[in-house]
Formats: sequence, structure tokens, C-alpha cells
Amino acid sequence: MTTRIGIDVGGTRLKVGRVVDGIIVDRAAADTPHDFDAMVARLAELVKDLLARSAPSSSDDLRIGAGVPGVFDLDRSMVLATPNLTFLNLKPLRHQLEQATGGKVRLENDASVAAWAEALHGRGRDQPNFLLATLGTGIGGGLVLNHKLWGGHSGMAGEFGHLSAAAAFPSEQLIECGCGAIGCNETFASASRMELRGQERCGVSDLPKLAAMARNGHEQALSVFTDAGTALGECFAQVVLLLDLRVLLIGGGASPVLDLLREPLLDRLEFRCDSRPRESYLIETAELGNDAGILGAASLN
Ligand SMILES: [Zn+2]
Repeated sequence: MTTRIGIDVGGTRLKVGRVVDGIIVDRAAADTPHDFDAMVARLAELVKDLLARSAPSSSDDLRIGAGVPGVFDLDRSMVLATPNLTFLNLKPLRHQLEQATGGKVRLENDASVAAWAEALHGRGRDQPNFLLATLGTGIGGGLVLNHKLWGGHSGMAGEFGHLSAAAAFPSEQLIECGCGAIGCNETFASASRMELRGQERCGVSDLPKLAAMARNGHEQALSVFTDAGTALGECFAQVVLLLDLRVLLIGGGASPVLDLLREPLLDRLEFRCDSRPRESYLIETAELGNDAGILGAASLN
């Protein structure tokens, strides 16, 4: 019998779950040790805890998937670069996890894993082709094409946050992104940038409060979401022009403000891709929230 375990490797927490038929039936979590050997040992402990609590016969065929924020080598055996878990770089993560757990391990980029979860168990289940954009501290993205996860050469496909939104704004509104480029999507549309602009424009950085003001017609608050939606539309237009997608799912901390982003997003899409009617797009919130990492990872292999 096959046992499936999903691992969500975050900068501060390691989350592990045993998944049966798309449902997380048992969970374990711990703080992320910022040391390679300690992290592998902690993950192995968490996995063993879950196995000890399940039926003994269920560990005959142990499949483990792990979503990790980073860029991978070609066969996904190690992380080449990651923004906030640099102790993982160039270390044999897959091999060590297999040794420590006795399972078959597959690694994938965390944003791609979330998209895969939506494809299997969430809002993307009836959609053969879509992009998932996660609006949080930055913007993550994952691509599903023809019902399959498209991670690309190194797991970085769907880097929606660093497409350029510059064409949609006057130059004085463009700022430098953490990646060094000017005018990236996430400098307008990440949850943290919306909060920062809210603070600058109307002294309110709390996103739900800012959204409530915008829904009541507060012009400055509304302009934050109009800019974010326009940036998302400009960048999704580039995706549409390349791949002819029609479905964009929005996840992450800013997904509850999608009602304020949708119209400016569609306006920009219509402007950039004028042969495609706005009614042909589906712009929806993702469904799985914080569980997407475990659910997607558990179904990687
Ligand atoms: Zn960037």
C-alpha cells in the first residue's frame, strides 16, 4: 500500500501531512532549523511520527513530496538557490531525505506545488490550463498546462512576480524590485506592497481596512487596488500572449481583495489582448489556502 506524505518547507515552519484521497488525515509541524543536517533530521522525525500513527502496513511504499522555495538542478535533487534558506544551497537534499526516511522523495518549487494542489483538489480541478499567482510578501506563481504541472527547466516556471508591469505606469511610479529590476509586478501587486502604498497614500497599511475604505469609495485607497490590478493585468497579458491562457487563480494573503483587483485587471487585459473578450477569462480566488503546500507535495510522485 502506498503512503503519501507532503512536506511544506517554509522559512520559519516545517509542515508535514499524511494525505489520503486528497485529504490531510494527519499533520505534524516544527520550527525550521536553519542548518542542513538539523533540518533533514527534523523532517525525518516528523515523517516518522506520522508513520508511527498510521497503520504499519501502510509504509510499504512511502512517497514523499516537498515544496521548497527555490531554484533546483535539472533532476530536482538539490536546491541551487533560495532567498531565505541559503543553508540548503547545493546540498543533496533529496538523497539525504530518502536516506533518513526510507521513502521516495521528489522536490519541487513551493509555488508550483501550490498550483498542483489547486489542479488536483482545488479551484483548478476542472481547468486544464491555468496560472496560480500567490500574492503575499512577494508574488509566487505556478503553471499547470494540459492538466500537468509545468515546473520548467529548474522549477522556476511561473515567476509571475518578476514579469514587468512597467508598460502600464508612468516612469515616476516605478520602483526597484528586490531582484534588481525596475517595475516588477510584485512592486505593485504583492500584499506587502499594497500595504506599503496604502500607508503612503492614506495612512492605512492594514489590507482588510484599506479594502473596506476602497469599497466605500475612498479614492486614495481605491487607487492602491487599481494600480495592483493594472499591474496584474499587464503581466497576465504577457502570459496570455505567450500561452493563450484564460484562467488566473489568485491565492495568498491578498486573495480576499480580488473583488477590487478584478476590474482593473480585466481592463488592462482587454487593452493588451484586444481580440480576446473579457468574458472569456476566469479570474478567481484559489481554494486551498495554507493546505495547498502539503496537498500538492503529497501528489508529486
Ligand atoms: Zn523583480
